Amino acid sequence: MLKKNEIYTAEIIDYTTEGSGVCKINDIAVFVPSAAVGDKISVKILKTTKSYAYGKIEEMIEPSPDRIVPDCEVFGKCGGCTFRHIGYDSELRFKQKRVYDSLARIGGIDGSVIGRIVGADESDSYRNKAQLPITYDKNGKICVGFFAPRSHRVIPLDECNLQSKAFSKAINAFLSWAENEHIKPYDEATHTGILRHLYLRYASKTGELMVCIVANAKELRHEKQLVQTLVDNVPDLKTVVLNTNTEKTNVITGKLCRTLYGSGYITDVLCGLKFRISPLSFYQVNRDQAERLYTIAAEFADLKPHETLLDLYCGTGTIGLSMSHKVKHLIGVEIIPQAIEDAKKNAALNGISNAEFICSDASAAAADLKKRSIKADCIVLDPPRKGCDTSLIDTVTQISPKRIVYVSCDPATLARDIKRFAELGYSVKKAIPVDMFPRTAHVETVVLMSRSI
Ligand code: SAH
Repeated sequence: MLKKNEIYTAEIIDYTTEGSGVCKINDIAVFVPSAAVGDKISVKILKTTKSYAYGKIEEMIEPSPDRIVPDCEVFGKCGGCTFRHIGYDSELRFKQKRVYDSLARIGGIDGSVIGRIVGADESDSYRNKAQLPITYDKNGKICVGFFAPRSHRVIPLDECNLQSKAFSKAINAFLSWAENEHIKPYDEATHTGILRHLYLRYASKTGELMVCIVANAKELRHEKQLVQTLVDNVPDLKTVVLNTNTEKTNVITGKLCRTLYGSGYITDVLCGLKFRISPLSFYQVNRDQAERLYTIAAEFADLKPHETLLDLYCGTGTIGLSMSHKVKHLIGVEIIPQAIEDAKKNAALNGISNAEFICSDASAAAADLKKRSIKADCIVLDPPRKGCDTSLIDTVTQISPKRIVYVSCDPATLARDIKRFAELGYSVKKAIPVDMFPRTAHVETVVLMSRSI
């Protein structure tokens, strides 16, 4: 057993799936946040269990060659980045290994089908969406910031390396308005005050910016001045929206949106298609990498003009719509009604008439399609982190598509699901990891499966 508060010397040999460093002390795995593989450190033990322990770096004895100096003053304090202390190449190595470990070692697939990870050209400034809590800083000045990990303590910060550079002017203009007009930030503890979140979205291909203020009110005092300040100072500004959230909740946005300026939405271009982005609709946060991900998915899908494509967990329809010109018929399925509405609007916006969208649980919709003997030649699956239900996997294999393209945001649930697919006769032909979220521990994987027999 390791002792709490005791200090040991160790070398970091691996990362956890969350990106913490791992070292072995007396054969017990110790997890050390913000440590890098290759670091020789002294570790202070903070918490022990029977089989593992948590520690923190007490002293750096010899830093890893992978290390770089973090270029952010709140790295380690803010919940955003996991890997600002190692180079991007080292991060990509970790992500490649994580996918390999899950799919080959746990999932049992032949490791040679796993391609090289598609890294991002830009490992910073890629986030086209920011939801910044509004509060007072320690000098009593209104500010925006980020939540500390697993907490609601706001760390004041108006520049973040991950977020689009286009946001800075909007943040400054908004804060100067709030300061001048004495509009109070919302206080979670007392449920008083007005300004909850500054919510920004940027369409990087078209250069359109949305400012959405999430308020504990249906109206703001000095709304006109707010719009004027933004118009005067933010050249990319396309629209300003007030979102009302008067609930005591952790959920950021409320249901009600009122447009204060412009059309209430921005439009971006992805895979040559236009997508309308309103405050409540889903859009990939890293546009450029999403385009690469969808391009790989399309290559894997290898669609033919007479075929039917089924896009399960379709969100606002982006993956299916980006491939719709290659097939006779597209069916998209998604559980959130608003997303289905957006998917239909996106189809119309792009003059796509061979697409149909169903608002339903994916398993239920797949079972229904099977009952109606609807054939799908290719099925795209893009489930949330928890992966696919076994009933969905069973039904998908009974529909018997020629190809299944599985887009996964969690290598562990992907490994579990491909095992089930293998038992039912589908094997992995290719897998490519894609880094959609540089500097965080998340990694996406696109997998092609087809009948092994
Ligand atoms: N393919 C889309 C969205 C993927 S995110 C894109 O690339 O943009 C996963 C989607 O699955 C979310 O939109 C979520 O609302 C949806 N979802 C979650 N559970 C579901 C279920 N049981 N049935 C259908 N859709 C579901």
